Amino acid sequence: MDVTQVFGKNVFSDSVMRKVLPNNVYKSLKETVEKGIELKADVADVVANAMKDWAIEKGATHYTHWFQPLTGSTAEKHDSFIEPSADGTVIMKFSGKQLIKGEPDASSFPSGGLRATFEARGYTAWDTTSPAFLKEDASGDVTLCIPTAFCSYTSDALDKKTPLLRSMEAVSKHAMRIMNAMGNTATKRITSTVGPEQEYFLVDKDLFDKRLDLMLAGRTLFGATPPKGQEMEDQYFGAIKDRVLDFMKDLNAELWKMGVSSKTQHNEVAPAQYEMAPVFATTNIGADHNQLVMETMKKVALRHGLVCLLHEKPYAGINGSGKHLNWSLATDDGMNLLDPGNTPHDNAQFLVFLSALIKAVDENADMLRRSAANSGNDHRLGANEAPPAIISIFLGDELTHILEAIEKGEKASSKGSNFIKIGVDALPALPKDNTDRNRTSPFAFTGNKFEFRMVGSAASVSGSCVVLNMIAADAFDGIATRLEKAKDINKETTSIVKEIMKKHGRVIFNGNNYSDEWVKDAKKRGLPNIKSTVDALQTLTSDKSIKMFEKHAILSKRELHARYDIYLEQYAKQINIEALTALDMVKSQYLPAVMEFVAQLAGDISTLKDISVSTKVQSELLNKSISLMESASKKVFDLEKNLEKAQGISDVSKQAKAYRDKVFTAMGSLREDIDSLEAITPRDLWPVPTYADLLFKL
Ligand code: ADP
Ligand code: MG
Repeated sequence: MDVTQVFGKNVFSDSVMRKVLPNNVYKSLKETVEKGIELKADVADVVANAMKDWAIEKGATHYTHWFQPLTGSTAEKHDSFIEPSADGTVIMKFSGKQLIKGEPDASSFPSGGLRATFEARGYTAWDTTSPAFLKEDASGDVTLCIPTAFCSYTSDALDKKTPLLRSMEAVSKHAMRIMNAMGNTATKRITSTVGPEQEYFLVDKDLFDKRLDLMLAGRTLFGATPPKGQEMEDQYFGAIKDRVLDFMKDLNAELWKMGVSSKTQHNEVAPAQYEMAPVFATTNIGADHNQLVMETMKKVALRHGLVCLLHEKPYAGINGSGKHLNWSLATDDGMNLLDPGNTPHDNAQFLVFLSALIKAVDENADMLRRSAANSGNDHRLGANEAPPAIISIFLGDELTHILEAIEKGEKASSKGSNFIKIGVDALPALPKDNTDRNRTSPFAFTGNKFEFRMVGSAASVSGSCVVLNMIAADAFDGIATRLEKAKDINKETTSIVKEIMKKHGRVIFNGNNYSDEWVKDAKKRGLPNIKSTVDALQTLTSDKSIKMFEKHAILSKRELHARYDIYLEQYAKQINIEALTALDMVKSQYLPAVMEFVAQLAGDISTLKDISVSTKVQSELLNKSISLMESASKKVFDLEKNLEKAQGISDVSKQAKAYRDKVFTAMGSLREDIDSLEAITPRDLWPVPTYADLLFKL
């Protein structure tokens, strides 16, 4: 494969547009993309027509507005280009109007009450900043996909893209103010960037099909601990199996065609777990691409007789999957604002942005935590495999040392072999490569970007990007105002850094985030430790949250309340599905299997008794099986009772709490008995594949 030829071949990219669009149309569209100037109708018509011709030449018959409703996945409704003519034939047509706006019936998407059922119309609006692309399926069918935002008749956002675009504007605006106040006139635009590292599991499709829990809940609800797990540490970065490599090869090819820059692939820590990382992009395109990554992983896996599991915790007792969100800010003239740089001038700028982020994260740790909350992630956060639910920042010794020196007003500091001068006026030359790594930190500075490591593997990255952009914008806003008024920029810069370190230095922690001592230490520091999704979601509609979202025009109070309801409902629904699936499996698979075993044993015992042979072993096993079965039956009843109660609660918040405290707990207790039964029941009678099968038969 000639990757350079394949890459982006299905993208209506800048270079394609330059080729197929008349010069004035191309320029006009570019202005819309870069300056947000409204697109003229005649320009849209020309673009639409060119897009259609390009797509048809590549085999497309249909187009779709591609959007990201609050389900967390993507949605598409395909329309063909055909338009009947009077003579009974058809022509292929695509107008500017069709490109710019769609009107899907939105009544079946989550709206949290924003869209009354009598006004079921929703609107999709073309996002000109994310290029249109073609999706190809296995049989070669091609569909033109137009990335769009999705809102209600009353213009409330019903999707993940709209707030993301708004947050990008906010962060850009206030970051620019800082740049201007610090004397930078060359930079015209700033964009937030993201590179999400995607973890996932693969499992054999035939085995997957035998597990109702994997099929319906995305995770195993039962399964005894296998003799081997991840303790040999032989999986991480290990040689990749041929079957998996074949899958990765196909996955890359599909992603590259759509312009997704899949770059890194490797085995992850758990058996049958892998990771893929792209080259970073602007947060908007990065978020679109991550959705494509997840979707394409699932699709391509099936072509290889595999199923891709994106759930945060498919298997108990084994590492789950997350998504490390690498985030930074880029300027249109090629700067990375989180790159320490070489000169004191760059460094003043860097230190201002860095300390602004320290302030932002400390003040809004609850919001950041909330952005990573979902029922799947509750299994990971704080479970010694993923960062704890406590947000802290890892800066590495060197940067921490420098910031602390500034805080204390020290003029110079030496550390290691590099002598770092810290002047009050001229800030120091900083180490360019911060090679320190701390794998346990939820928010780590990794050289020239921050890595937010809490996000779940199945989640859309948009929510966390929105919060990162917004809290950054908010901190930048306050600092910009000070700098704009300052008579002496250097002095003001130094005092800003100093003040932030005094007030927010508590959020910096370079030690082991998995340790119990840290949990205690963090408590002393006053850092929040929000353990569950239900609690985390409460911060979405807190006064602070509403004020900030509204101030930066990212989401209104109405929109936030709608999201709060939707996310809590999703949480409750997920656990409801899990509970029903668990009950189904126990009643129709596990208990009948154990009953069969019990009957077999009883038969054996009576036969053996006839010939006066000892039945000690069989009797013990029989008694153990029966007592576990009785216990499990009681727990089935218990789970059913709790489930019914939870289902009857109408207040979303109370209902979600009941699912967490009662239903989830009852499910876990039932699992214990079933897993114990698995350990003593003959393999050929056990009705579903075991953990060893699922994790090692690949
Ligand atoms: P590691 O696992 O060591 O952190 P990886 O190479 O797996 O490193 O992933 C790093 C990710 O960070 C990649 O997706 C990369 O594109 C992304 N990244 C690098 N620079 C930036 C940046 N300036 N902004 C956002 N993401 C970035
Ligand atoms: Mg990585």
